[in-house]
Amino acid sequence: MTTVLQRPIASVHGRGRQVTCADGRTTRSIDLDYAASAPALDAVVDRVREVLPHCASVHRGAGHKSQFCTREYESARNTVHRFCGADSDDVVVFTRNTTDALNLLARCVPGDTVVLDIEHHANLLPWRNRRVVRSADSVEETLIRLDDELASRPAALLAVTGASNVTGEVLPLDRLADLAHRHGARILVDGAQLVPHRAVDITAAGIDYLAFSGHKLYAPFGAGVLVGRRDWLDVAEPYLAGGGATRRVSVLGASVDIDWAPSPARHEAGTPNLLGAVAIAAACDEIGAIGHGAIAAHDQECTDALLGGLTALAGVSVLRLWSDSTDIVGIVSFTVDGVDAGALATALADDHGIAVRAGKFCAHPLLSRVGAADGAVRASIGLGTTADDVDRFVEAVRVTCLSLR
Ligand code: PLP
Repeated sequence: MTTVLQRPIASVHGRGRQVTCADGRTTRSIDLDYAASAPALDAVVDRVREVLPHCASVHRGAGHKSQFCTREYESARNTVHRFCGADSDDVVVFTRNTTDALNLLARCVPGDTVVLDIEHHANLLPWRNRRVVRSADSVEETLIRLDDELASRPAALLAVTGASNVTGEVLPLDRLADLAHRHGARILVDGAQLVPHRAVDITAAGIDYLAFSGHKLYAPFGAGVLVGRRDWLDVAEPYLAGGGATRRVSVLGASVDIDWAPSPARHEAGTPNLLGAVAIAAACDEIGAIGHGAIAAHDQECTDALLGGLTALAGVSVLRLWSDSTDIVGIVSFTVDGVDAGALATALADDHGIAVRAGKFCAHPLLSRVGAADGAVRASIGLGTTADDVDRFVEAVRVTCLSLR
């Protein structure tokens, strides 16, 4: 297999580090676990190093360093706003991660939410007391079920993932946005797995809310984003109460009277994660510089190679939700007849220096739905992946399965 790009499409931190295998050999490590957390881009690391010495609180302080930090933080917000194609009145709230962003929005929705059963737990559990629709075997039938559900009873929000963290299948977001809006609902997209792979222009696609995590977008852990329409966010009481989230606080008798600030400050109580915000913005800038076209092409080639290599192996079944899905991002989960997923992943790490993930990927209903309730192995690619990585992985799966059976 020689068609996949021979060099990484971007320079990622720590790529190809030497690791020692269980038998004492050293080998070049291969990271095929980008869907869990992507390594930071070197450009992101450089940017964080530049800002790190300026240690002062954002929005609190008149000193030079505090002013610098406030400027950097707000500039990061503007960069993310542009990166998502947000409308001028949309708001960007920095959160801890996607989970935090989705839980935040769940507190703000003034009505019912409809969600599919294929979601990562982060986009299922915040809506656990709302309405869950069973996905069908095809995209078309699933859209019909959602249409019926929204027609049967009004809902304020349709919450969907942009791309499945198990199968990589991309959902038809423009059609889902139309469908939601036709029934008077808004649409939230969990972009944790989509945003690292595809351009998402929320205004053009009619998306009302988008959430994603820095650590899956080539930035370090601890920062994420909720971007979207301001009105709901400006009315709801914040679920994190504290400094910075208010305009005025007074004590009236035995109670505290609060005038909450508008968004985003309303939902960013406490000292914010400046480095996390700066890192996400640096990742957005670098992805913009590489170009979404180049990223999608690299993604496609690597994914095709991964799928081609794995499906040629005896006993391998690739997990798929829908018979008619046409687009997948670089995530391939699979089971192997007679081979335990956890044992395979451990052997790949210990004997070959290859990192993948095994388990149920925080998506238990989805795993049951695709017949892999006991778990699967997931290989996921990213900007540092090369043809050699994919070839070595496929060969390692082949020999490991032979020895484990
Ligand atoms: N949504 C999807 C589709 C994911 O894949 C993940 C993480 O794997 C999440 C949400 C949660 O992301 P985080 O753990 O960064 O909050």
